[in-house]
Amino acid sequence: MSELDDRSIGGLARGLSRWFAAEARDLAWRRTRDPYAIWVSEIMLQQTRVETVERYWPRFLARFPDVASLAAADEDAVLEQWSGLGYYRRARLLHQGAKHVHGALGGELPRSVSGLRAIPGIGRYTAGAIASIAFDEQAALVDGNVARVHSRLAALVDPKAQDAKHEGHWRFVERVLERGSPRVLAQALMELGATVCTPRSPNCGGCPVSRGCRARAEGVQAAIPAVRIKKPAAELHYFAVGVRSGDRLLMERRGDTGLLAGVWCLPLVARDPRRTVEAQRDEVAAGIGGLLGVKVSLGEGELGVVKHVFSHRVWHVVVWEGRLARRVKIAGRRDGLRLGWSVGGVMPEGGVPTLTRKLLAALPATTP
Ligand code: SF4
Repeated sequence: MSELDDRSIGGLARGLSRWFAAEARDLAWRRTRDPYAIWVSEIMLQQTRVETVERYWPRFLARFPDVASLAAADEDAVLEQWSGLGYYRRARLLHQGAKHVHGALGGELPRSVSGLRAIPGIGRYTAGAIASIAFDEQAALVDGNVARVHSRLAALVDPKAQDAKHEGHWRFVERVLERGSPRVLAQALMELGATVCTPRSPNCGGCPVSRGCRARAEGVQAAIPAVRIKKPAAELHYFAVGVRSGDRLLMERRGDTGLLAGVWCLPLVARDPRRTVEAQRDEVAAGIGGLLGVKVSLGEGELGVVKHVFSHRVWHVVVWEGRLARRVKIAGRRDGLRLGWSVGGVMPEGGVPTLTRKLLAALPATTP
């Protein structure tokens, strides 16, 4: 299938510009030209719904209004603001990026894609988004929405050509951005994919560029992109133990890598799903007791099983309650783990992911 010709690209750019001016959603981050604020929005929007980001973005900017304030913050404070958004690695990289911009670049985000890509956590897409949206530079950006729109406009039926990493999409966007305001056209392409040319049931009747769409002309829009057979998510099994001491509840900060890196959870112990829960009771009690150097007794029976779905993993977590034989003092690291107390329902400073809130809700008389 050949590339779209210059005439089609020109018509597309005109149609998109007009449509975006009239129909674009009024999203808070579209009312600013502050590159830092746009950077934050682009990181949040990765893997996260617009409706969720609408709640988090203003709060995050109220707490960290500029690069300097984010760079000066503790990682715990950053993760706390990110709590519930998921993919905590994004927050940590954003924080590292802000430190880099503050320390090495005088607090100013560069305008060029190459300059932006030298910042930790900023990849090809995010660099293109910041350069085009904040600085109106001709910097291409391709996400899943843009790749789908282009695949349909050009009737790309080969699944390999539909992938967002395919260079053909980047060339297409470059050609579109040359024909008007990159700020407007880049956002319009993404908006079209998000609201009109959606993955299922594209609204071709309400599409501003339907006249130039090859997929529509050929009646193949529903077949693009090709359906992918997803690998089933890996299922993992854990015990979580709510260890109480008076009104205190033991929390464990997860390690620096992997899912939930650096955020607070109940202490977790891997579970062997081939063995019964009861058969593993003593090992779990000993494992948690070993963390603290004091005997832990588990309550009668489990409190429930919490299922949590990550993008490529499903966790099944059996929740148990435990009690300490005596009070213990916890400060800082023990055995490579970082432990702390939630006191009267108030969590230690840092991120608290959704899974943790679900586990706390499974414990009796606990305020998440
Ligand atoms: Fe997508 Fe339909 Fe518009 Fe083509 S006409 S770009 S398939 S919404």
